Amino acid sequence: MRGLSIKLKLPLLIGGLVAVVTGVYAYSDYRAASSAAVGVATRQLGTVTDQFAEMLHTSRNQLVAHLDSIARQPLVAAYLDHPAPARRAAVLQALAPAAERTPTLAGVSLWSVDGRRLLSQGEAPRRGLKADSALLAAAGTADTAVVGSFHAVGDSLALPVVARVGTRANVRGYVVQWRWLSGSAKSSEQLNRIAGPNAHIYVGNTTGDVWTNLARRVPGPPVPVAPAPGVLEYTRSDAGGTYAVARLVVGAPWQVVVEYPKETVLAPARLALNKSVRIGAIILVLGLLGAWLLSRTLTQPLVQLTRAAEAVAAGDYTPVAGSDPRGDELGRLATAFDVMVQRVGESQQRLEDRVRARTAELQERNEELEAFAYSISHDLRAPLRAMGGFSQALLEDYGDRLDDTGRQYAQRVVAGANVMDQLIRDLLSYSRITRSELRLAPLDPRRAIQTATEQVAPDVAARNARVTVDEPLPAVIGHETTLAQVVANLMANAIKFVPPGTTPAVRVRAETRDGRVRLWIEDNGIGIAPEHHERIFRVFERLNPADDYPGTGIGLAIVRKGAERMGGRVGVESQPGAGSRFWIELPQAEVVDERHSNTAG
Ligand code: ADP
Repeated sequence: MRGLSIKLKLPLLIGGLVAVVTGVYAYSDYRAASSAAVGVATRQLGTVTDQFAEMLHTSRNQLVAHLDSIARQPLVAAYLDHPAPARRAAVLQALAPAAERTPTLAGVSLWSVDGRRLLSQGEAPRRGLKADSALLAAAGTADTAVVGSFHAVGDSLALPVVARVGTRANVRGYVVQWRWLSGSAKSSEQLNRIAGPNAHIYVGNTTGDVWTNLARRVPGPPVPVAPAPGVLEYTRSDAGGTYAVARLVVGAPWQVVVEYPKETVLAPARLALNKSVRIGAIILVLGLLGAWLLSRTLTQPLVQLTRAAEAVAAGDYTPVAGSDPRGDELGRLATAFDVMVQRVGESQQRLEDRVRARTAELQERNEELEAFAYSISHDLRAPLRAMGGFSQALLEDYGDRLDDTGRQYAQRVVAGANVMDQLIRDLLSYSRITRSELRLAPLDPRRAIQTATEQVAPDVAARNARVTVDEPLPAVIGHETTLAQVVANLMANAIKFVPPGTTPAVRVRAETRDGRVRLWIEDNGIGIAPEHHERIFRVFERLNPADDYPGTGIGLAIVRKGAERMGGRVGVESQPGAGSRFWIELPQAEVVDERHSNTAG
């Protein structure tokens, strides 16, 4: 998120917020709608199930009343008392209303008090439908006829109704009727008109073994339902999640269950959710669009400002941030930025102009000074040479006419003139190396070292010094004459600053690192304390008394200036009494120009 541009961050943030708000709103809306729908459905379920239980109770009463009226006929009781074959036809006639061939009737039979079937009509016996003794016993003591549990016969269901013949105190026998439980498309349509089009109505035994949807036998609810109060929730393998209410039917071993599929109950809530999601999506798209437009208007001036700031950083002071003026804070910022840029640009320009003018002025003064110093030094040499020459002539031509003191004075004048001449020569060298135009080129350092060795040959001879040059000496970029002078100065010092009695040993070698070459000039001299390593490279800085080690203090200043003019550096590693290791570092050259590559060997 941190790396994203503000232009993207703003729409993302607003989009996220809108998504969260609409999501929360849609979810709570759905929760409210679904709990309302479930409330309505379960109340409706309770009412409908009560109605069905009541309807079944009414049907049961009708069945019972009908059979009681048949069983109460005196003819039936008389036959049971004396089952004479002659009365058989008359009894069957009396039972006839029960044996009418309606599609719902399976058969009717007359039973003796000790449980024997005396007469029977219809298909019940053939289908194995018998009255069980418990039901007969129940009919014997009940106020009215009794109904029994549903019995499964293949795919169909049958139910028994048993009426007592005689009084409770004097039971003569029983009339047993079997009825088919059969419904039609029409009747289930009627039921659904009451319960609602998606309701499933089931009637079954209280034991839960046999269930019917009033058209045929069906599997019952997957959980025991009869005594459960309130609303049940379970899952049917064929219909999914379901809400259900169960009621017992008064006066019969039956129960009724009405189920509503959860899907249909929750459908309105789902619809509402769908709607909320769609509205949420539209709000989200509109929000994103709005946020994008807003972020574009906000970030455009920022982008412009950033570009302007980058341009300023790159040295371009043209004011552009406020090129498209707008009235808000960002517009004011851009205008202020432009004003600032303009001011900075102007003062920068003024500063540059002033620096340029001062530099030119300084350069001019410097050149004048250098020229002045050069000409003074140059012009001083003529009278000086005259002083030295005439003092020498005085000594040679008139020496015998002078006394000792006079001769000594003249000798001092000669020595002083020589020192001064050396000083002037060194100053002229320094001035030359500072002012002269140097053309840098790849060169073979061996040639410069050779020239330097030749220059210091008198010193080498005087001190009987040993000079070794180690190969290889890689090519460098520099100026050969300058390099020769630098190396010569270092070699002269290396020979000079060696205590009397020690043979000077000078070693020259090279080292390459990171594209640069270091030339080392090492000696076995008196060494230099580390605190002086920096200052000895300045003009006129000397560490030793002139009597022991004569010099002007300009040699190392020339070395440093020469190295710098060639784009290099100098340095020293040394300890008193342990010799010195001076170095000069120059850029390494890839190829050596042939004109400079004559080996000095
Ligand atoms: P000069 O040699 O004329 O005195 P330089 O500028 O060449 O002047 O050297 C400055 C001083 O640095 C010297 O006076 C000396 O004290 C010290 N110095 C230079 N080179 C060496 C060396 N190789 N060993 C010891 N001391 C040195």
